[in-house]
Amino acid sequence: MKSLALYVHIPFCAGKCYYCDFLSFADVAEDIRLRYTEALLQEIAEAAATLPKQSAADFEVSSIYFGGGTPSFIAPVQIERILNHIRDHFHVRTGAEITLELNPGTVTYDSLKAYKSFGITRLSIGAQSMMNLDLEHLGRVHSVSDFYEAYRNARTAGFRNISVDVMMGLPGQKYADYLNTLREIVACKPEHISSYALTIEEGTPFHEIYGSGRTARDNALGLFRLDLPDEEEERKMYAETANFLVSAGYHRYEISNFAKNDEERPHRYESKHNIVYWTRGDYLGFGLGASSMIENTRFSNIRDLNAYIEADGDVQKIRENETVLDIRAQIEEFMFLGLRMMRGVSFARFEECFHLSMRELYGAVIDAMCRDGLMQEDEGSVMLTARGVDVSNTVMSHFLLEEEQKEEDAFTGGDEEKDQDREAKEDGPPQDKESEEKP
Ligand code: SF4
Repeated sequence: MKSLALYVHIPFCAGKCYYCDFLSFADVAEDIRLRYTEALLQEIAEAAATLPKQSAADFEVSSIYFGGGTPSFIAPVQIERILNHIRDHFHVRTGAEITLELNPGTVTYDSLKAYKSFGITRLSIGAQSMMNLDLEHLGRVHSVSDFYEAYRNARTAGFRNISVDVMMGLPGQKYADYLNTLREIVACKPEHISSYALTIEEGTPFHEIYGSGRTARDNALGLFRLDLPDEEEERKMYAETANFLVSAGYHRYEISNFAKNDEERPHRYESKHNIVYWTRGDYLGFGLGASSMIENTRFSNIRDLNAYIEADGDVQKIRENETVLDIRAQIEEFMFLGLRMMRGVSFARFEECFHLSMRELYGAVIDAMCRDGLMQEDEGSVMLTARGVDVSNTVMSHFLLEEEQKEEDAFTGGDEEKDQDREAKEDGPPQDKESEEKP
C-alpha cells in the first residue's frame, strides 16, 4: 500500500495578524464556520471516492495535519467529526502522526484533553515570540502568559510531542530579544522548534506601511513604524538559531526545523507530515485553498469561502489548476525540496525515481558546489553544508534545468557542463512557513 499524507485547512482565526497573508479569516459568523465543516466532510467523502488514478483502498494514511488559519479556533467537536470522517473513508495507519496547529489563547485544558482523546498525537503551537511587545507589534491575539498556559495545559493533557513556532526579524526586535525568545522556548523543552523569518507580504497591513516611514500616529491602522532589524542583525539571528538549538540538544533536519535528539530513535520528533512534502510523497489537501499531489498530478482547491461552501464537497467544482508534472519539473522539485533536508538527496533514490543517473545529470554542478564548500557527499547522498544552508537559494538555483538541457540530459543522460553563472535569487534566512505546512 502507498503512503498518503492528508492536510485539512481550517481558515478561521480569532483575529488577523498584521503580517499574515495566509488564507484565513477573522470575524466569520459561527453558522458559516459550521457550514464550512459540513462542506469539508462532503469533500473528504467525495475525495476518497474519486482519488486520481487510484482508489482510497490503495493508500494508507501516514499522517494528518490540521493547519490554518487556526484549527483550535473552531469547536473541538468539529475536529473530532472531521477526524472520524477521515477514518471512515481512508485507511489510517496505526500510529499515524496527527498534528493540530493551535494558537495560545484559543485553547483550554478541556479542549486539549479533548484533542488528545480524539487521537491527535502532536501539537504545533504558534508562539512566535516570548516578548509581549513583539506579539503586540505582530497583531497576535495572545500574550506570553497565554503561551505558557497553553503549553502547560498541553503537557498536563498528555501531549508528548509538541512543536513551537518562533519568528525572527520582527519590527523593533534586537538580536538579544530573539535569543531571549529562543532561551525561554528551549526552557519549556518542546520536542520540535520551527524558526522562520518574517516576510512582508503584499496585501497585508505590514506591506501597507513598509517603507512608508509612517508611524502609529499617522497610520489609519494604528500601527507603529516598521522598524525592521537590518540585514546583519537578521543574519546573526539566523546563524545563532542553529548554534543555540544544537547546543541545547536539538538537531537541524531541515533548513528551518529542529527536532529534539532521541538516541534510540533519531528521527522520532521530526515532522513526518512535512517530510512527505520535502520528499515528494503523495498528499491530499481538504478545505479552502488546499493543494494536493498524487502521483505527480498537482491540483488545488478554490480560495473563495462562499463558493467552497456552496460547492458542498463537489470536487468537480472545488478543484482547479490541475497540472501533470513533466519529468523536468519532477527532477527540479526533487532536488529543491530534497536539499532543504540536512540528509540531502540520495543518488540511489534519484535513479529509482527517474531511471537516470543524478551524477550524469548534475555531476558538474555537484562537483563545483562541493569544491566551493557549499555541498558535500556522504553515504551515497549529497547535501548542503552549513555554509550552503546560508546561501541555499543560490545553491538550489544551479539545479534548475534549462529547456534544451532538460531535453538533452533528462532523456539522453547527457552530462554537458552546466552553466554556473545562472542568476541566483537573493539568499537570506528561511522565510515564513506557509509553503511547508500549508501545501
Ligand atoms: S498568522 Fe496564523 S493566527 Fe495570525 S491570522 Fe494568520 S493564520 Fe491566523
